[in-house]
Amino acid sequence: MNDSRLAERSARLSRLAERNPNAHADYVNALARVRYLRGEASEHACALCAAPAAEWELTFLDQREGPQFFLYSDDAHDYMPYCAPCSLEAEQVRRKALRRIWGE
Ligand SMILES: [Zn+2]
Repeated sequence: MNDSRLAERSARLSRLAERNPNAHADYVNALARVRYLRGEASEHACALCAAPAAEWELTFLDQREGPQFFLYSDDAHDYMPYCAPCSLEAEQVRRKALRRIWGE
């Protein structure tokens, strides 16, 4: 279940990256900056379940930039480490928060 959702997400991001190379570059650079300043996500415990983390997810949205599908922040502390299953949860929570922010 999670594996197919993760594969689906990865395919969607690849398609978006092809169509939006500049937005994708900003997003990738911001993540590289997080890894440079805070280390690999795998060096941390998941913020939700304490399993070994697998990726950094933008969690605090105050300083967000970029389009919704490649949202990023220049502040490395706006990101939290998550394991793969919890990163999907984090993404859902972020989507809900954005809808609230945008009044949808
Ligand atoms: Zn987790």
